[in-house]
Amino acid sequence: MFAALFVAVALALFGCVSAAPQKRALAQVYTKCTVPNTVALTFDDGPYVWLYDISKALIAAGGKGTFFFNGNNYGCIYDDANIKRVKYAYDKGHQVASHTWNHKDLTKLSWDQIHDEMWRVEQALQRICGVQPAFMRPPFGNYNNLVREAASVRGQSLATWDFDSGDSLGVSAQASKNRYNTVVGQRPRTILALNHETVASTAQQVIPYAIQRLHAAGYRLVTVAECLGRQPYQWVGKPKTKDSSWKC
Ligand SMILES: [Zn+2]
Repeated sequence: MFAALFVAVALALFGCVSAAPQKRALAQVYTKCTVPNTVALTFDDGPYVWLYDISKALIAAGGKGTFFFNGNNYGCIYDDANIKRVKYAYDKGHQVASHTWNHKDLTKLSWDQIHDEMWRVEQALQRICGVQPAFMRPPFGNYNNLVREAASVRGQSLATWDFDSGDSLGVSAQASKNRYNTVVGQRPRTILALNHETVASTAQQVIPYAIQRLHAAGYRLVTVAECLGRQPYQWVGKPKTKDSSWKC
């Protein structure tokens, strides 16, 4: 009888934490924008040196973009220059979001490893900008149900894309411009565009050109959250001051 009671109490106490993973909710995956006539230009893999050029081109056109930041990919997000870039993007009204810490393929990781990749960059955005992002983009666009469950637990949605400028595939700037020409010519209701802020020709040639074409076609250049009619952040608080715990 005591044994039975013990089992009952143990189940009551620990039943919820040992629930099978498949019982968890799956995070929403957005592959396109929903608000008509919007384009969300997104920039992955930074913070990096070309962020300022991209931001200036967007702001000059009255637009906003979305930066999916890594914690430690091209550089450490806690380097002073990168803290400045992330803060700058946020202060200019662009959306800041998670692209995970190390840019690993999340589908090859365990539950704990996925969370580790997710929370470390969220912590960086909390510290630097004072926000908890509502959106994440899995590296390479790769995800499975475990990744969606982990994102859901963290209150996040996944955002991928329906247009790829090709800049991470090694295509030339001219080829990327041609891709924008083609998509603008097709005049879809919305565009969710993948770009990389780590590619110089993207910042200096392709984006200024794309902005001009998209603008001329009458699209509004907005953030991912705006193009979905959603909030960009789960909460907004105060940024913190850098201390010795901020390291990669
Ligand atoms: Zn990436």
